[in-house]
Amino acid sequence: MIAHLEPRSPYRPWFIGEDIRNGDVLITVLDTDPRTVLCMEVAGSSSLDAAGVTESWTLTALPSVAAFEAHAGVAVPTAAGRVDDAIAGRLTTPFFTNPASFDDPFTRRGEASHTTAAAARMLLKSAGKCTACGQAINLRRSTARDHIHIHTAENDVDHWANHESAHDWPATLCGRCQTAMTEGGFSNFLDYRFSFHPSCPLCAASQTRSASIGMPNPGEPVPPWTVPLGCIVTDPVPGWICGGCGYRWAT
Ligand SMILES: [Zn+2]
Ligand SMILES: [Zn+2]
Repeated sequence: MIAHLEPRSPYRPWFIGEDIRNGDVLITVLDTDPRTVLCMEVAGSSSLDAAGVTESWTLTALPSVAAFEAHAGVAVPTAAGRVDDAIAGRLTTPFFTNPASFDDPFTRRGEASHTTAAAARMLLKSAGKCTACGQAINLRRSTARDHIHIHTAENDVDHWANHESAHDWPATLCGRCQTAMTEGGFSNFLDYRFSFHPSCPLCAASQTRSASIGMPNPGEPVPPWTVPLGCIVTDPVPGWICGGCGYRWAT
């Protein structure tokens, strides 16, 4: 996943069984648990390297192979290598026919929470940025995998149904936040993230949320430490909102 997010990464994880010809279509399956489908690419003139890719489509929800197969109506081969044209045609279908349907978290309802597939999804979604402090994590160095920490949360499907009751939240963490979270004795990410905020001046509740202007992206769960205020905001604009008593105050 690091090599996918950062093409200049020294990691070369791709296993390719055969020579790649100009115009070949490559489908990348990640050896996560369960296996997931990442992207489809069209190979250009230079082969065996990402530099030779002319077009690519990424499935940002990183669907499991099972979900992908249900969409394609054909089995994904377990070994890397060339496939029949007929099968290849079916395998490209999910990339073009409503790939957004993979974003529906209910398709992952049966999946376990703390899997390498869940970690890979978190990393892909974060695009290499720390969920806590927002800093971009340097993925170019050879030690990148030691500087990026993935925190998976108990079935993140629940967050979509009712995020008010979320107890934890999946996160990608930079080294500094990972250390701070461990040394601070935080066992879950939400407690750590809320610790960035001031406590409520009225009721002293500690889970206060930062206000943000604008509408939330309908396809994204709203992080529980923020409150989107929409586009019409009263003056003065509140900076913080108390989750306990509802008090709003400016920064
Ligand atoms: Zn951080
Ligand atoms: Zn309060």
